[in-house]
Parts: sequence; C-alpha cells; structure tokens
Amino acid sequence: MSGIFSKMKLKSKQSKITRRQQFKLFLSIMASFAILFITLGLIIFNLFQSSTYKSIDKDIRNQVVAIKKQPNMQKQTNPDPHDPNNHFINSKPDPKAPFQASILVFNNKGKLTNKSSLGNRYSVLKNIKLNKRNVNLKQTIVVNNMNFRSILIKVSKKNNNPMYAGNYVLIMQNIDTQIQAIQNFEQILIVTFFIFWIIALVISYFLAKINMLPIVKSWKQQTEFVNDAAHELRTPLTIIQGKLEYMLTKPNKKIIDEAEAISVSLDEVNRLNSLTNNLLVLARSDSATTKLNFELTKPDFFLKDPIEPFKDIINSQSKVFQINLIHRPTLYLDRDKIKQLLIILLDNATKYTPKNGTIKIYDQMEGSKYQFVISDTGVGVVDKDKNKIFDRFYRVDKSRNTNSGGHGLGLAIAKQIVTVHKGHIYVRNNLPHGSEFVVELPIKH
Ligand code: ADP
Repeated sequence: MSGIFSKMKLKSKQSKITRRQQFKLFLSIMASFAILFITLGLIIFNLFQSSTYKSIDKDIRNQVVAIKKQPNMQKQTNPDPHDPNNHFINSKPDPKAPFQASILVFNNKGKLTNKSSLGNRYSVLKNIKLNKRNVNLKQTIVVNNMNFRSILIKVSKKNNNPMYAGNYVLIMQNIDTQIQAIQNFEQILIVTFFIFWIIALVISYFLAKINMLPIVKSWKQQTEFVNDAAHELRTPLTIIQGKLEYMLTKPNKKIIDEAEAISVSLDEVNRLNSLTNNLLVLARSDSATTKLNFELTKPDFFLKDPIEPFKDIINSQSKVFQINLIHRPTLYLDRDKIKQLLIILLDNATKYTPKNGTIKIYDQMEGSKYQFVISDTGVGVVDKDKNKIFDRFYRVDKSRNTNSGGHGLGLAIAKQIVTVHKGHIYVRNNLPHGSEFVVELPIKH
C-alpha cells in the first residue's frame, strides 16, 4: 500500500516539475517575443520618423536655396520687395506654402522686419526671438501649440532681395500634420504589434506544447523505467537479505542444513544478474553507446548458432522443435545482436509453451523484406497485450512470470534490436492456439 502511495506522490511531483518547466519555457518565449516586437517596432518607428523629418528638411533646404539665390526682380510681374514669400510665387508655385511655411526676417539687432507680410500670423509669431547661435541649425520649435521645423540663416548683403540682404532669415515649416501622422502611426504600431504578440504567443504555446510532448513522454518513460528497475531490484535483494539474516540466527548449523535458503538466495542472485545485464543493455542502447558491427551476411550465419542449444533444451522438456529455414537473401546487420534477439524469442517460446507443445522456426520472403517467425503452441497473447508486451517491464500475468523468472525486459530489448536494424517485430496468433513472433528485416540488394 505504502508503495502505491509513494508512487502516486512521485508522479504528482513529476507532473508539477513538468508544469513548472513548461511555464518557465512559456515565460521565456513571452519575453523573447516582447523584446523582438519592441525592437522591431522601434526600428520601424524610427525609420518612419526620420524619413518624415528628412522630407520636411528637404523642403526647408529648397527654401534656403531659393532665398540665397534670389531670382531677378525685373522678371516678376508684380514684384513686392517687402514680401519675403515672393520667391515661392516665382520659383516654385506651391498653393499650400503660405499656410505651411512662414519666413521671419530679423535685422542684426533682432528686430522683426517683415511684420506686414506675416498678416494675422504675426500675433502668433511675434514671440519668436532671434538667437544668433542657432544659425544653420535645424530645429523643431513649438509656438502656440503649433510645431515648426525651422532653420535660421544669415543672408549675404549682396542678396538681390533688399528685404533679406544682410539680415537673419528664419524659415519655418509647420509640421503639425506630420507629427499627427507620426503619432497615429505610433498608435497603430503599438496596437498591431500587441495583437501580433498575442497571436505569436498563442501559436508558440501550441507549438511548444506539441514539441514538448515527445520530450515529456520520453522523460516520463525514463523516470518510470528507473522506478520499475529499482522496484525489480528491491524484491530479490529483500529475499537475499531475509535468507542471510535467518542463517545468521543459526550460526551453528551446517551448510547442508541451510541448503534450501542458500539455493533460494543463489536463484535470486542469478535473477539479479540477468536483470542488471538487461538493464545495462537497454541503458546502453538508449544512450546510443553500443557499438554495432553491421556487415553483409546470410541468414545461416546468424540463425544456426542460437538455434543449436535450444534443440536439446526443448527436447529435454518433452516439446517438439521444428526448423524450416530455406531462404538465403543478403542482409546487412549486426549478427551478434540478431542472435541475441533470436535467443530472447526462443527462450520465451520455450518458457510459455507447456509440455508436448511445438515450437517452430521458419522463414519467408515478403517483397523486399526477409521474415523469420518463431511460432509456438503455448499460452498465446491476447489482442489487448499484443503491443504492450514490447514495453519495458510489461508482463501479461505477473504471478505466472515470477515462476518463469522474467522481468518483462526481453521483448523490449528485442524491439530495440529490430528498430536499429530498420526492421519490424510483431506478434500474431498461431491458430488454434499459441503465438507467432514475426521479425521482418530489410533485404540488401
Ligand atoms: P519476460 O522476461 O517476462 O518473459 P518479455 O519481455 O520477454 O519478458 O515478455 C513480456 C511478456 O510477454 C511476458 O511476460 C509474457 O507474458 C508475454 N510473452 C512473451 N513471449 C511469449 C510467448 N511466446 N507466448 C506467450 N506470451 C509471451
């Protein structure tokens, strides 16, 4: 009972650890996506902002050029030397210019000299003071909640336009619409990226879940394997300990008197030996540390050796052994591993077939596959167990198998051997009773 409880506790602890790991993974994905989207957003936003400012600055530069190279006043149809905006009319007609751009002309003393041309804009722009240190500096200034991109230039005394000549000219371009566009773009960017961040999270959550499944499954399998192995090791150890303690209570007895206890202990030692060997085989192939010796070979070279000793064993148990191996395809495999596989299958067939039963080995060709089949007239395997018996530590009838000395590892090893050979192993019914274990291996052409 306590064993069951400790197993249950262990399982809930394991699932808690798995959940915590999944949560941590999810958090790190969230953070990574947030960093990614914020960086991307900042890059896009800065690009948009700088390209907007670039185009405004280009406009201002054009105006600076226009002011510095004043056109010939004679060509003007209605020249007004007091209107500093007249170069727009002559050089580059822009209907929006009077509303978007303003030009302030200051004399050397900082006095605004083009008051009349500013019209009703004067009331707003009069507060702007001349700061000679800002000459040739591009600036963004705010006047009465209106934003302007501006540049201050010192115009040469030789300039054709007497209004500009020798004065300071502040060219101002209203950028309220551009700033509004930048703000709108910023809001759209934040909302879009937030939505995409959520979508990316949902997708990555499901992808992570799907990708984690095999890892979690194999991790669980591994933990279960260690638990089962520890459990299997504990039983023979407890028996041996019990027998030894019992013998210690009778120190004067002779070995012959305790022969039964000694023989039981020895049996358990043998069981332990085979169990640890099997565990080692499985652990080594799990970590892929077993070196395989693949070579081109024919069935006689790996089937004959393991079959030979079984002839005597099976006959001595009053069972019939039939061999019918006729095919000789070329196969590419590790002979020792296939021999080990055959021993497991023949051993099982012998174990699970009662007296007077028949054990048979035969081979056949199935397209590009070579099959050898170990059939018996034993207890058989019911449908629901046909896949499970290849799992580690799975035994159909535990009490029956304790007598036959198995730990449920033989077929797991067999399956592993077949898998590394890119083959297939399965069990089917042998009518009227018994089972047939089919091993299918690819033929090398
Ligand atoms: P074990 O060491 O218990 O035999 P295996 O992995 O070799 O472990 O086999 C797993 C289980 O499959 C066995 O416990 C047994 O119940 C069943 N099994 C294996 N071979 C046969 C067979 N030839 N006939 C009937 N049952 C079998």
